[in-house]
Order: sequence, then structure tokens, then C-alpha cells
Amino acid sequence: MSVTDLGMPAFPAAAARATRDTRLRANLRHATHTIRDKRARAVGELADWAELRAAGRAIKDRTLRHLDHYLERLEEAVTAAGGRVHWAADAAEANRIVTRLVRATGEREVVKVKSMATQEIGLNEALAEAGISAYETDLAELIVQLGKDRPSHILVPAIHRNRSEIRDIFRSEMGDWGRPAPEGLTDRPGDLAEAARLHLREKFLRAKVGISGANFMVAETGTLVVVESEGNGRMCLTLPETLISVVGIEKVVPTWQDLEVFLQLLPRSSTAERMNPYTSMWTGTTDGDGPRTFHLVLLDNGRTDTLADTVGRQALRCIRCSACLNVCPVYERAGGHAYGSAYPGPIGAILTPQLRGTASELDASLPYASSLCGACYEVCPVAIDIPEVLVHLRERVVEGGRVTRRGVRTVIRPAKGHAAERAAMRAAAFAFDRPGVLRAGQRLAARTRRLHPRRLPGPGRAWTDTRDLPPVEAESFRDWWQRTRGGERGSGQEGAK
Ligand code: SF4
Repeated sequence: MSVTDLGMPAFPAAAARATRDTRLRANLRHATHTIRDKRARAVGELADWAELRAAGRAIKDRTLRHLDHYLERLEEAVTAAGGRVHWAADAAEANRIVTRLVRATGEREVVKVKSMATQEIGLNEALAEAGISAYETDLAELIVQLGKDRPSHILVPAIHRNRSEIRDIFRSEMGDWGRPAPEGLTDRPGDLAEAARLHLREKFLRAKVGISGANFMVAETGTLVVVESEGNGRMCLTLPETLISVVGIEKVVPTWQDLEVFLQLLPRSSTAERMNPYTSMWTGTTDGDGPRTFHLVLLDNGRTDTLADTVGRQALRCIRCSACLNVCPVYERAGGHAYGSAYPGPIGAILTPQLRGTASELDASLPYASSLCGACYEVCPVAIDIPEVLVHLRERVVEGGRVTRRGVRTVIRPAKGHAAERAAMRAAAFAFDRPGVLRAGQRLAARTRRLHPRRLPGPGRAWTDTRDLPPVEAESFRDWWQRTRGGERGSGQEGAK
């Protein structure tokens, strides 16, 4: 658990708090729906998407089966190309290694390209304790850092912020970290990007040490790959004299031919692009070009244990595209902070409890942070069956119980639900059992839809405090079917089955 996630409440409590925030819900809904629609269009362009997805899955599975072999190959290739490889069993060891490497340069500042692995291990906090300032250079990560906030999305870490909030953060915080925001900064995207560019340019030109993650590592040549949209990553990877990359061991792919598959799957699934605007690749060090020293820290931190679980290990196929977050109804309402981990959303619900175990209340609650609707599986470019792993982990939690904050092991029992919720379910069951009642109810709701309140009164109020009441359509599906296809078989009678 990274330092910033310590003391997080279990998912239901954190989610309940988040869902009361109407602005957060509106920001999340707008952003996730926009990205998911674009992704669907980008994926729809490829006739062989299903084959690509199957290939991605097969390559990852094969690599994970022989992970030791490919990692050793990678180490040999990186070393032969002039880099140095360090092995970190857990977060503490990785943080110690990176701190030692930075200290050895004599520098007190580093620039960072967005990296989930360093977030997972709480590297920024560990460096701060050692008196080293780490500056995030990805635009969204910069917003998060300046706002003393935590990332809430894999691809768009500041997804929970809107433009005016970002302008306010820039105005009030930038000056404390370096170049202040320009006078009269507006919330126009172009102005905000320019303010960030000017602020970061100073950092890039001064920094002697860069820290990165990597999207992929190619074992056959020891090449690391970072894909991004802004170009800030490329500055971080090329300008400093020393580059330290912290990468999870599951990010290795055997060959360049394998990489080709993922460079098609990832951009379409994450940013809905045919290819990423910036794809940076480096192999060790090269005289006269880029960093003179390169260190690769290979991070385990629970991955080997995950690999030992025959059902759960598929989570290690993840290429961090974030498509599963953007379609998840739970994520859309609760946001990323409720997951208390660097990995939010459906992938976080299966990866975090495996990397960290289920001893804490928070981690034991994560496999329940899902309705098991399966939308995440449908969009996952490497076909991770997230619902299957969720059910498997729930089983593990129930069998093992969980340890409360006071160290008492308790058995997990399914919640019985609120009395009002049970009454609503009984009413729904009554109507769904009687097609005539259901149809009459739908027509009445459609005719009176302009009179419907935005918030329910009485006991229903608590429900709409944390949810947006969906508008009732002018015509029900049954009536539409009857009107448009009344003569066809089965018209209007489905409810009677
Ligand atoms: S689980 Fe699949 S959809 Fe979710 S981030 Fe990972 S690769 Fe993308």
C-alpha cells in the first residue's frame, strides 16, 4: 500500500462518500462516456480486432508461463546495451534502490514521467523523506500533485477535476513549485496547457535525473517502450543525464513482433487513437544521445504470488489501457479514490487484492466493488475475465475471513439490505410478474414524466442523494415495438414469458 493510501476506509464507506458528490459524478460521467464512445469507434475500424485481442491474450499468457526465462533474457540484453538491472522484491526495496541511485548522482530533484509502478510503491513519498523532490511532468499528474490530491484514473489521473478547478489549482499552487501561473489565467484548455508547458519547461531543462515506468520491455533486445500523448515523457526520457526506470516484471514481451500486437491494442483501447502521438523506445545507453546512465529496477511486489494463482494470474496480462474503468457503472459513480490504490476500477478490484493480499478491510472489500455486469471483460483488449477473478477473490475473502483494524478475524456475511430497498424490490417483483401492471405503470410514468422530481422524497431520498434519477422515455420499449413492429412474432408479449 502506498503511503497516500494508508488509513483508507473500506470500499463501501469510501464509495458512499464519493457518490454524495454531485459534481464528481457529473465530471466522471461526462469524461467516461466521452472516452468510451470514442474507443468503440476506434476499435470498430479494425475488422480483425477479435483476432488481435486473442493474439494479445496468447502472447501475455505464454510470456507469463515462462516469465523467469524472458526476464533473464531481458537482463542480459539491457546489460549488454550499457544499462544496469536491479531486482526489487517489494516496494520498500524498490524505494531504497531508487533513493540510493538518485543520491549517488548528488542531485536533490528528479523529473518523472507518469508511472503507475512508482505510484504503487509510494516512490514520491519515499524520495521526499530522503530530501529529494520529485516533479510529475505528465499534465494530469501535475494537476494531481499541485492539488495535493491522488490520481483517480489510469489514463486521466485528474478525471475528477473540471477545467475551472484546474485553473484554480494552477493559480494558487504553481508558484510554490516553480514558475507561477500567468496573470489572469483562464480555464480555456489552450491556456491551461500553455501554463503547464511553461512551468514544466524549466524543470526539464534543469533536471539531471529522470524517473519513468514503461509500458513494455522487449526481452530480445532489452528495449523499453513508453507511449504517451503530450511529449513530456519524451523530454523526461531524453534530457536528464541519468534515467531510472521502475517497471513491473509482467511488462516484458518476448519479441518486437509481439510488441506490434500491443502497439495496436493499447492506443485504440486507451485514448481511442490509431497510434499514440509519442512512442519512445530506448535500449541501454547511446553515446552522444540521451541519458549517459540507465538503470532498470524490476519490481515484483506481489506479482510472483499473483502468478501462482491459476485463476487470478490473468490480471497480470493487463496493459493499463483503462477501457474497463470507462465502462464500469461502479467506477462511474464512485470514482477512483474509493479504491484506495494506484489501480482503480475493475482492474484495481482484482489486481490490488492480489498484490497486497486481503488482510486489510479495504483490500478485502475490493472484490465486492462490482455488479459483475461483465462490461469490463467485453472491452478488455487482452480478454481478462475480470468477473471470473472477482468471484474467485470473493471466495478467497469469504474462506479466509478478513482482519479488522483491531486485528480480529471476522467472517464475511452477505449484506441483508435496507428495509426500503427490500420493499422496492418486492414491488418490482410484483410488477415484473404481471405484464399488464407493468405496462400500465410504464405508460403512467411516461405520461407524467415532466412532473417527476429530480430527487425522490421520503426513504427514497437517500437513494437519489447518491444517484442521478434517469429520465423516463416518452414511449416505453413495448409500446415502441408494438407501434413499429406490431405484426411481427412476439411483439409486445415478451414480458408474459
Ligand atoms: S484490465 Fe483490460 S481493460 Fe482494464 S486496464 Fe487492464 S487491459 Fe485495459
